[in-house]
Amino acid sequence: MLSTKGYAALTAGAALRPFSFDRHDVGSKDVLITISHCGICHTDIHLTRNEWGISTFPMVPGHEIVGTVAQVGTDARKFKVGDRVGIGCFVDSCRTCKACRQGEEQYCEAGMRMTYGSRDEAGRITQGGYSTQIVVDESYVLKIPRALSSAGAAPLLCAGITTYSPLHHWEIGKDHKLGVVGLGGLGHMAVKIAKALGAEVTVLSTSEQKRNDAFKLGATHFALTSNPQTFTKLQRHFHYILNTVSAPIDYNAYLNLLQTDGTMILVGVPDRPTPLAALPLIFNRRRIAGSIIGGIRETQEMLNFCAEHRIESDVETISIEQVNEAYERILRADVRFRFVIDIASLR
Ligand code: NAP
Ligand code: ZN
Ligand code: ZN
Repeated sequence: MLSTKGYAALTAGAALRPFSFDRHDVGSKDVLITISHCGICHTDIHLTRNEWGISTFPMVPGHEIVGTVAQVGTDARKFKVGDRVGIGCFVDSCRTCKACRQGEEQYCEAGMRMTYGSRDEAGRITQGGYSTQIVVDESYVLKIPRALSSAGAAPLLCAGITTYSPLHHWEIGKDHKLGVVGLGGLGHMAVKIAKALGAEVTVLSTSEQKRNDAFKLGATHFALTSNPQTFTKLQRHFHYILNTVSAPIDYNAYLNLLQTDGTMILVGVPDRPTPLAALPLIFNRRRIAGSIIGGIRETQEMLNFCAEHRIESDVETISIEQVNEAYERILRADVRFRFVIDIASLR
């Protein structure tokens, strides 16, 4: 067993605090990764507070992990000691179902094994990246391209792939007007990636103070959602809307901003159901869809795409002691645009 230091929530809603635990030994196909950086995703907050009713404790959160390979298993071939690598939201899946065979492990019929809060074969709870090291099967480990900094790449492992995957799946690009709702961790990645794909991006935000940031990130337009005129001016405007908001919002109001045959894609996960009216869908044959992260192959493709287009996350690096304060700031939408923990502060 590998003695590991981390930060954990011991019960639902408890402040995170220092926590020591054991990682399993390095198996023949595993790599041991010394973690250097871990991003803070809003999902970490939902899960440490058990807002979706699926959490297990103690919980070491963190699924935007970058580090360096420290050891490789006897039959592991993909990486060598010293390689810079990443881990996203899952660390295993059944590998045999249709989704896994198609490289869409995130839709594994048996359910993916999450980086934290799942059970491994031995029945132990998996623990995430707010920790000094992690052991993962090489098939679920990503290569971090040289052009990307470690801190700027960490959020790509969740925020990056979660926005890249639907943009890619729906082939959103130069012929499309895209609305991005919510300019947080996911939203700012959506703007950068969609811009690189050639889409005309409008940010729909509750925060006037993010207007200039939106333009700097690559948006062409910015609309304040607290202004009722936004919802009349932009009626039937968009081909696609990507909704990244972490709280319940009126989906019907946003559906009205879609053209005929337009699609609103949900990636944000509010903690309670949101009423959906039939009429805004029916009148213009609109669609509503969802999407979760992306598979391993697509995540590598996204990392390579970001390296090629010089896209990183805009981060504020913090020490582990600042993690609880960072959670409060995320809840106030006071982050530009992702907190990343410098894991050296945990050693
Ligand atoms: P985040 O950084 O907190 O960003 C969320 C943004 O939503 C905020 O910055 C804010 O943007 C807006 N917002 C927050 N509360 C709002 C409210 N009450 N009404 C309207 N707008 C509000 O969070 P994140 O890390 O990007 O994650 C966003 C959501 O996606 C979370 O629910 C997370 O669990 C989920 N998620 C899903 C996946 C997936 O695979 N589907 C993956 C990762 C995360 P403005 O200031 O611009 O209004
Ligand atoms: Zn996440
Ligand atoms: Zn599967």
